[in-house]
Amino acid sequence: MQVLSVASECAPLVKTGGLADVTGALPGALKGGGVRMRTLLPGYAAVMPALQDPVAVEHFDDLFGGPATLFEAHAKGLDLLVIDAPHLYGRPGNPYSGPDGRDWPDNPERFAALSWVGAHVAAHGAGGWRPQVLHGHDWQAGFMTEYLRGFGAGDVRTVLTIHNIAFTGATDRTRIDALRLDPWRFHPEGYEFYGAVSALKAGLMGADALTTVSPSYAEELMTPEFGMGLDGVMRRRQGVLTGILNGIDDAMWNPATDPAIIRYDDPADKRHAKAALQTELGLPQAAGPLCVIVSRMTHQKGLDLVLETLPDLLAQGGQLAVLGSGDPGLEEAFRQAARDPNVAVRIGYDEAFSHRLIAGGDAILVPSRFEPCGLTQMYGLRYGTVPVVALTGGLADTVIPASPAALAQGVATGIQFAPVTAGALRSALARLGTLYRDPDTWSRLQRNAMAQPVGWSRSAQAYADLYATLTHRG
Ligand code: ADP
Repeated sequence: MQVLSVASECAPLVKTGGLADVTGALPGALKGGGVRMRTLLPGYAAVMPALQDPVAVEHFDDLFGGPATLFEAHAKGLDLLVIDAPHLYGRPGNPYSGPDGRDWPDNPERFAALSWVGAHVAAHGAGGWRPQVLHGHDWQAGFMTEYLRGFGAGDVRTVLTIHNIAFTGATDRTRIDALRLDPWRFHPEGYEFYGAVSALKAGLMGADALTTVSPSYAEELMTPEFGMGLDGVMRRRQGVLTGILNGIDDAMWNPATDPAIIRYDDPADKRHAKAALQTELGLPQAAGPLCVIVSRMTHQKGLDLVLETLPDLLAQGGQLAVLGSGDPGLEEAFRQAARDPNVAVRIGYDEAFSHRLIAGGDAILVPSRFEPCGLTQMYGLRYGTVPVVALTGGLADTVIPASPAALAQGVATGIQFAPVTAGALRSALARLGTLYRDPDTWSRLQRNAMAQPVGWSRSAQAYADLYATLTHRG
């Protein structure tokens, strides 16, 4: 089975969030099951120098405004096709925005080009290779189904995975020509979305199969509360939608082998990692739990609720250590909060520090207003760092709440709260304190968490089955 994954980011080469973790881990996870997944990536300035043995397999005289070359290459264990198009991707900053944090105004064209090349490879092949399945991720790959239709490659099957429906890639209809779209398909059955052009809508309508990253988020997407205006489309396409839970890279996230931390494989030894973290951050010893957060700082993540309930956490002897960046208002509010000696905040992006935080914390807080899957609560599980999560999306699917029954049966792995309000988080933190002060219960919770399977094997099989079903259907 040959699959081309079309992605705007892919770890460890280029990452802004969980999307990259998934597109980076899936090819390796699928290998054993007879699926070869190659990944089509834009040749960002940071990506091109990392390529090993690049071989040019295709040239485009005019790829959305300039010449481009498609390279076959390897990097960091990934089997890649990379679009070298300096006019689109040879810029500083992250995949979507410049150093000033503002999105590039030509993002619709930049990722239309990614989708167009994906469809081109699926229809015509590249370097003598052609996939049976074209698997795109999020809005950046949405137009692939439109272009594939234009190329007339009816034998290729398409899958679109929704990692976050909040980003739709919507743009103005005056760009239809520039985006190389068929103007006759600007209608509700095509890529039109409330009078605008939407890459995500195009893919949602056109793909043979849709997946999203947890079963609960698949359900939620069909509701007005979470569907971001696309809930009607999701309800229409319910028959082809499945929720496949993300896994984590359990080799990279393994407390017994992690080179970034003081290693442990028993929760009793976790105290060394905690002491090291407290020393690193200048936090004193404390009676209550050390709570950690590793997160983008956006409204979605509910971090304002943490600020609101912080006095309650501190009053019970708890501590807070935060790593994240994003919304300037939230960044500043956390900086202010760090004046308290029991609060430490680091604004920025730091892989190694994120490992030390998750290893050293007693609990990890993920109070998201919505969360398609979420990865950090799974890192928490693997490290015996008890997740305290909102009851939504993938957080609901990965954490078994410490109800009296679940504790009695020995299956509880964390704490869930609903609704996503400061009041409910406050109660969850009180519950956390109670559990933490009961050492037997606490260590049982940690052991259950660490024993929970959070790797890729089950989900990789689900993707492999999906590809097989699609291609056998013919
Ligand atoms: P999202 O994709 O919505 O940002 P996820 O929980 O799915 O949320 O994935 C976030 C990923 O990014 C995780 O791997 C997390 O560890 C990582 N991450 C987020 N913020 C930071 C940061 N400031 N430093 C290091 N890693 C981070």
